[in-house]
Amino acid sequence: MLAFPSTYSVGITSLGYQVVWSTLATRQDVDVRRLFTDQGDPPHRKCDLFGLSLSWELDGPVLLDLLEQQRIALWSHQRGEDDPIVFGGGPVLTANPEPLAPFFDVVLLGDGEDLLPTFINKLQQVRQLARVDRLRALAKIPGIYVPRFFAPRYDKDGTLLAVEPIEAGIPNAVTKQTWRGTSLSHSTVITPDAAWPDIHMVEVVRSCPELCRFCMASYLTLPFRSSSLEDGLIPAVEKGLSVTRRLGLLGASVTQHPQFSELLHWLNQDCFDDIRLSVSSVRTATVNPELTNILSRRGSKSLTIAIESGSERLRAMVNKKLIQEEIFAAARYAREGGLSGLKLYGMVGLPTEEDIDIDATAELLLELKKTNPGLRLTLGVSTFVPKAHTPFQWQGVNPKAEKRLKQLAKQLKPKGIELRPESFGWSVIQALLSRSDRRLAPVIASVRGSQNKLGGWKKAYRSAREGDLSTTNEQALPLPPPPAWQEVVHESWQASRVLPWTHLKGPLSQEQLIQHHHQALNQSVGVAAAKR
Ligand code: SF4
Repeated sequence: MLAFPSTYSVGITSLGYQVVWSTLATRQDVDVRRLFTDQGDPPHRKCDLFGLSLSWELDGPVLLDLLEQQRIALWSHQRGEDDPIVFGGGPVLTANPEPLAPFFDVVLLGDGEDLLPTFINKLQQVRQLARVDRLRALAKIPGIYVPRFFAPRYDKDGTLLAVEPIEAGIPNAVTKQTWRGTSLSHSTVITPDAAWPDIHMVEVVRSCPELCRFCMASYLTLPFRSSSLEDGLIPAVEKGLSVTRRLGLLGASVTQHPQFSELLHWLNQDCFDDIRLSVSSVRTATVNPELTNILSRRGSKSLTIAIESGSERLRAMVNKKLIQEEIFAAARYAREGGLSGLKLYGMVGLPTEEDIDIDATAELLLELKKTNPGLRLTLGVSTFVPKAHTPFQWQGVNPKAEKRLKQLAKQLKPKGIELRPESFGWSVIQALLSRSDRRLAPVIASVRGSQNKLGGWKKAYRSAREGDLSTTNEQALPLPPPPAWQEVVHESWQASRVLPWTHLKGPLSQEQLIQHHHQALNQSVGVAAAKR
């Protein structure tokens, strides 16, 4: 059973989910069914494996609803010999699986291309063994994390000291796996019921070489890789366009493909006149007339760029190598290319941010509107949330971000600029899930279903702090209460702190991340000093 923690329409639009599904479905020795929150394939008589792909922290509690619906015990240690092995993967679990670790038997860390077949092959080899021995065999494979063989160790005051293997033969650390093939993924299911109906999605690049200091899409998936034009992209596009005329080019930074202009040139042929082409977020500095012209001719109405902030100082601090002129040029190219809208993404609550930086964002948007009459401007704004394996993993959520979202709305909405702010309250919960350890698991178990509301989280966390959740949610090992909410969500942490994910190795070492963190904060000081 392969589950997705949302509806069919959303799940089937996830390229990651599709790829896992097709990898399993094309194997002779696996019979796989799909499960979404609103529908599913008819279940097996007996299910050996239950998989879940997780790409958004806030979807975590839905796992428990799906397990309950399938009558699978929620906690890994409560599952018996004949119960399915519950495995998960995807960016959220690769970054920090610890809050959900007690619910999973296995977590696959990293790219699935090699890891998923390795996992299934090993399971087939050891299927006659007892459950614990099957899991033990899996735990010895690079990139396969079996949480039950690791235990957190705490100081008397509840400080995390280590997450360590509990028996000999289990590696001390698990390293994320990286696919290094010449082609990346593309759709295997094209359906009118997807969130983007009938779209054929092609992954153009994986990771991003820009290394914006907050960005998990870049840091967690390094190194930057691109699909070969001749052997990967063109065959993948041709295959999809034989059944649909809607094409989506995906990746953290699509226009940074080394042969992107050749790809555009190829898509500019007359035979593609009837296709609808869309690209996911492009790097602002790479927007040019050729790109906006072809997007407009191929049915796109708007272009999406991420600017993060209108403040030059903040952009330099987060390592966004983007100058004001490039933002204005992108807007002008969008308008002159015939696009009707420009969507910009920004953030509030970035480290060292001040009110003046928010004013700079508002001023930039107003100036863009003035210089580009007729171009519909939309600003999507999220609150900075620290993510594991990025240099800003030590930074907390700035409580002033909520006020700053309102400040932006006040400055922009009356001037006709559409503002789409993300909920500050849910960003806080995202940070809780992103930075916690296993002590959050009973809270997650309490808030699933109808309790999954902002107030429900705060109440459950308070109960966990007071030790009131242990009777209803049996952990395998009793753990101390979780740290104060303020400490997990809002405080900046010392670099020497043992992180819940210290035993899980991402692409860059702790020392490299510390160095990037220092560079960012020193950069900020340097720019401020230069302006005085
Ligand atoms: S350019 Fe975008 S995808 Fe690349 S590192 Fe920066 S935020 Fe991430």
